[in-house]
Amino acid sequence: MSAIRILPSTLVNRIAAGEVIERPASVIKELVENSIDAGATEINISIKSGGKREIIVDDNGKGMSRQEIELATQRHATSKLPDDDLLDVKWLGFRGEALPSIGSVSRLSLSSKGAGQSEAWNILVEGGEITPPRPTALEQGTRIEVKDLFYATPARLKFLKTERSETAAVNDMLKRLAMAHPEIGFGYKPEGRGWAVPKNQSIKERLGAILGIEFAENAVPVEGERDGAVVSGYAGLPTYNRGNSLQQYLFVNGRPVRDRLLLGVVRAAYQDFLARDRHPVLALFLEVPPELVDVNVHPAKAEVRFRDSQAIRSMLLRALREALAASGHQASTTVAFEALQKMQPEPTGPPAQQRMGFYQPNHGSTYRPLPSQTHHNLAVAQAAVSAIENHSVTSFAAQEMPSADYPLGLARVQLHETYIVAQNQDGIVIVDQHAAHERLVYERMKQQIAQEGIKTQPLLIPELVELGEDAAARLIERQQEIAELGLIIDDFGSGTIVVREVPALFGDGDVQGLIRDMADELEAFGQALKLRDKLEEICGTIACHGSVRAGRRLNHDEMNALLRQMEATPYSGQCNHGRPTYVELKLSDIERLFGRR
Ligand code: ADP
Ligand code: MG
Repeated sequence: MSAIRILPSTLVNRIAAGEVIERPASVIKELVENSIDAGATEINISIKSGGKREIIVDDNGKGMSRQEIELATQRHATSKLPDDDLLDVKWLGFRGEALPSIGSVSRLSLSSKGAGQSEAWNILVEGGEITPPRPTALEQGTRIEVKDLFYATPARLKFLKTERSETAAVNDMLKRLAMAHPEIGFGYKPEGRGWAVPKNQSIKERLGAILGIEFAENAVPVEGERDGAVVSGYAGLPTYNRGNSLQQYLFVNGRPVRDRLLLGVVRAAYQDFLARDRHPVLALFLEVPPELVDVNVHPAKAEVRFRDSQAIRSMLLRALREALAASGHQASTTVAFEALQKMQPEPTGPPAQQRMGFYQPNHGSTYRPLPSQTHHNLAVAQAAVSAIENHSVTSFAAQEMPSADYPLGLARVQLHETYIVAQNQDGIVIVDQHAAHERLVYERMKQQIAQEGIKTQPLLIPELVELGEDAAARLIERQQEIAELGLIIDDFGSGTIVVREVPALFGDGDVQGLIRDMADELEAFGQALKLRDKLEEICGTIACHGSVRAGRRLNHDEMNALLRQMEATPYSGQCNHGRPTYVELKLSDIERLFGRR
């Protein structure tokens, strides 16, 4: 073993770089955060080869003097911890590591002109070798060029992904930073298509610009406060969901984070409205007094630790739930958009998943009947005419005009004994009566359980359900717990259950189907679980069997009653599985569909 020695600073910097600088996106994060800390109002970024060959960050911040650029490239040199107090971090940076780390693994060129200085200076750091400052030409601000990232650490270079995925990671990082700072203007130029956002935008404008107007249209504002911690932002409607959680943008004190505690809260808030494999889209900004949050737990500061994580959790959960409840019956406009896309004779524009950034719907198609379908269309039209003549369509003349008080409009007709078609002030609403009613029953059951307990109604004739010995025994074992949910059952012997009372909300629903499904569910839950812990699932099952089936004819009053209840019920825009309960088509969209616009 050789003697103990202090490691040379270039090596120390490379070790630090190993933690902080993982890929081009991490360089971008460090440099842009420095520009933000320097009070820049315009930041421009360009990259070549996914940032492997070149990264340039240009800002109009307060800049640095000659002495400052020399210091800035030294390890642990920072202007951001004036009181040496790690518990009071007011800037994004504070570790004084980024510039020396980047300089140790790449060719770094830093040019800067400090506020009130007459000269601009440039310094070079190549693989850790510093060339002394020399004068250069620059307007106030700082320009940093990073070339040949990891050329000095070839092992690291091998770990980089393809140019394409590095570019995607840079884009994602910049979007997060731009969302966190709507007051700052950003311009991004990769080799392909870039984007730019102006300074002084509102949060809503910025989110719309970055996440697309679709998000802005399908999100509700979130607000909450507790003990000095404040949350704000926008949460996507449950029907506007995604297959992964990558579009959950979370920020703590202006820093983009991917924090497990926060992601968990998001999951909890939406679990009632989304299937397990679907994820909401949202952007939440948490502002916490610096002394109540530790940002020094992760070298890249992607995770944070809250002094009182329980308080943060419950504040956030409450705010999200309130926001979603306030969204009431809204289903997302993309539902209607997707419906329209399907109706379009020819698809126009890219499919929904490919749309990004500044998306504008494009409905510019002109209708051309497809020859092969003309005959079929004719037959359909004839059938429709004769149906109307024979009065076999339940329809209602326009006796009343829908008012603005009824966002879901007035029921006009029921089609296929399943869909209610209503007219509202500026369009057509199509409701899936089963999905909608299921949601109403579910929400009312939850409300009853929370308030006075479930009201039950005795069955005039108790219903016998044959299940087989095992399944019957499983239900009888939990007779007491099941009774709390408004279902009074008894053992009838030889594998048969007798049902005496059902929840009043169940109406004349399908008792047989309900009991069978409950028996299946109990088997799946196993012994240990309390039914109360699975309340949501069980209410869902009860609601499903107790709601109007597709296929039942409803009269005019019944249909309107359903619409009015939907308007009054929180979360009624989607069924328990996150599917929409209604689709709204705006007149303007329908006019486009027919080429009237
Ligand atoms: P940290 O941000 O943790 O302080 P860095 O190594 O990233 O460490 O930066 C070192 C110092 O260089 C900063 O504290 C700041 O004073 C200065 N600096 C870095 N980038 C800029 C910039 N774009 N404009 C003005 N000053 C900067
Ligand atoms: Mg920094």
